Amino acid sequence: MQTHNLGYPRIGSNRELKKASEQYWAGSMTAAQLEQTAKKIRDTNWQLQKDAGMDLIPVNDFSFYDQVLDTCLMTGAIPDRYHPLIEKEQSAPLDLLFAMARGYQQNGYDLTAMEMTKWFDTNYHYIVPEFKKDQRFSFFNNKVIDQFNEAKKAGFNSKPVLLGPVSFLLSGKEKEDGFDRVDLLQNLLPVYMEVLEKLDAQGAYYIQIDEPCLALQLNEKTQQAIKTTYTILSTRFPNLRIVLASYFDCFGPNLKTALSLPVHTLHLDLVRCPLQLNDILDTPGFVNCRTHLSLGVVDGRNIWKNDFEQSLLLIQKAMDAIGSNRIWIAPSCSLLHVPCDLDLETDEKTLPEAIKQWMAFAKQKLREVASLKQIATDPGAAHSKKLLEENSRCMEARKTASMIHKQQVKDRVAAITAADAERISSFPVRKEKQQELGLPLFPTTTIGSFPQTKEVRNWRAQWKKQQLSDADYLQRVQEATRKAIQWQEEIALDVLVHGEFERNDMVEYFGEQLAGFAFTKNGWVQSYGSRCVKPPVIYGDVYRPKPMTVEWSAYAQSLTSKPVKGMLTGPVTILQWSFVRNDQPRNITGNQIALAIRDEVTDLEKAGIKIIQIDEPAIREGLPLRKEQQQAYLNWAVTAFRIAASGVQDQTQIHTHMCYSEFNDIIRSIAAMDADVITIETSRSQMELLDAFALFEYPNDIGPGVYDIHSPRVPTKEEMAALLEKALNYIPAERLWVNPDCGLKTRAWEETTQALTAMIQAAKALRKKINTPVPE
Ligand code: GLN
Ligand code: ZN
Repeated sequence: MQTHNLGYPRIGSNRELKKASEQYWAGSMTAAQLEQTAKKIRDTNWQLQKDAGMDLIPVNDFSFYDQVLDTCLMTGAIPDRYHPLIEKEQSAPLDLLFAMARGYQQNGYDLTAMEMTKWFDTNYHYIVPEFKKDQRFSFFNNKVIDQFNEAKKAGFNSKPVLLGPVSFLLSGKEKEDGFDRVDLLQNLLPVYMEVLEKLDAQGAYYIQIDEPCLALQLNEKTQQAIKTTYTILSTRFPNLRIVLASYFDCFGPNLKTALSLPVHTLHLDLVRCPLQLNDILDTPGFVNCRTHLSLGVVDGRNIWKNDFEQSLLLIQKAMDAIGSNRIWIAPSCSLLHVPCDLDLETDEKTLPEAIKQWMAFAKQKLREVASLKQIATDPGAAHSKKLLEENSRCMEARKTASMIHKQQVKDRVAAITAADAERISSFPVRKEKQQELGLPLFPTTTIGSFPQTKEVRNWRAQWKKQQLSDADYLQRVQEATRKAIQWQEEIALDVLVHGEFERNDMVEYFGEQLAGFAFTKNGWVQSYGSRCVKPPVIYGDVYRPKPMTVEWSAYAQSLTSKPVKGMLTGPVTILQWSFVRNDQPRNITGNQIALAIRDEVTDLEKAGIKIIQIDEPAIREGLPLRKEQQQAYLNWAVTAFRIAASGVQDQTQIHTHMCYSEFNDIIRSIAAMDADVITIETSRSQMELLDAFALFEYPNDIGPGVYDIHSPRVPTKEEMAALLEKALNYIPAERLWVNPDCGLKTRAWEETTQALTAMIQAAKALRKKINTPVPE
């Protein structure tokens, strides 16, 4: 029995890579220094994995930016616009990579970056490969060979990791019409063969090839592509042992294909799909074939300690069927998606020991893998018994801990009825009653946050370090809010916001005030490139001990006679951007959060807030990978939102906001959320997205963003007016709102003032035009 790991976080336990890359980009670090930092991170990670008891250690999981981008470079899939940089490559090889990832505006060049999108159902974003019809591939970048040699030299028993050719092709985009990127396999495979040949020559023995696409719905042709690939590679390289890894879900209908592949080891994600093990062991012929199984029993997507008893049941079942020699033990997927090291959490106030004892980060997870092997292979040993006992005690304690389990919260969720998810009247009736808000045609508003200047962030940092008293902090933030209200009145917005100056992050802010949430000091996870997030940990039953935003909203409302929107984060987004409990179904936790937000919504209404926005930017992210599970998720997510939103009178106007542009497949569910107004991102796609809304005849009010806040560029009044006119082709005038794409937190005040002033002028011009009778 072997232990192995699929991938380790590359940011460094203290985000060394982030800091070094950013310094390099800012020009305050040389390429050689950055390389040095990277080498040190790799070396530390390899040693740490070996010390944790890994028999086989992954290499080439390190990346300066992203593993899919690395694969573009390995295979020479470099879009034409970057070719001028290739000649310059000698001087700084890293610059080509960073240019592709982040764009390049230097030496007379203005090259746009490649697109970025989410990696399966994770919060990790990868660089999307660009493919042309006549796409050629050639071995370009030596990284995998270099890193294999680096590890070999340092004495590690390593296993190079590659993104498989089929998943690589599927992860990309066709930049021209008239071809199917899967057909590029023919051109691509020779490059993979060259890579394997080189690795073989350097003495590699095991090669991990990731084909996570096996967790998706694959058509016949793609399944055939997988078969072809692995038949060719296995035949060509009889000495290399291919470990084929898929994760994030079951093989589902691809199981037969997966089992037919002539690979040495098949890795299974048994956290997401434990039953798959039975299917495989029951497949006629499997028991007697030679394929090894890598059992991914330790959760690579969450931060909880493994339940050894559960994992051992699976391991034992496999051992009984095929014997321990054909079994490997591993985390379920790469550990890229969890923080590095729980040992660094030493601040009892941030993360109490009582909660920490239930958790495991990457380093701890590898020790669990090693412990599972120890217990499975030598159950009688005193050490094994001790490991198992300790673990059982911990699991038992968690089941009954009073800090986790609150009967009142459980009872309340159990008592949710259909009526809790219904507004009193239907939208047309509500719309009529909401006329009392006195809003003009094409009401103007913003999405919530205003520029979080250095100054504002400093106040919060000082306050957290207790260098600023509660009273002083409050006073400063109130002052900022007061100015923001006054400014909004001056530029003549119709629906105001308080500006969110008191918030660090739209999830963390609520998590900090809800019971059942814990935080870490150093629990960073790579989101993309140098960007990391620190998700809250939901450990216990969630409830709202006291109002969270009412004072801020009421204060802001007291300063003006115009309506000020209450501003909340929705239950699905809070759930999606946190590490969630694994001891109860996700939807129960989500419903607990929904009730907590509902309490806040009704309290805002009581405090005289007439418009309340519940942001759900993450609703689409939670969509399961497999089609057959998607509807159940959407039904639940819609209901959770509606529970949060439905405790109010008809007169109270509920808004929601989402910032992404793929709605086509979920538009029905978006409509079912039944928010009175939805604001969405559309300006980049030139309102294309509205097709979905028009086709479906979306029934409620819509505010398609006319100002792209992700760019420092200030749009003109004419541009925005044109976008609005375009929107009028899709949305009736009486249901059209005017607003930016998203919150303005990352923008500066000056550009914000210019852009919003122009936006308001555009709305006014449109009102005038609509109200002016056409001359006979
Ligand atoms: N209200 C939030 C803001 O304006 C919404 C942010 C988001 O959708 N990501 O910042
Ligand atoms: Zn947004």
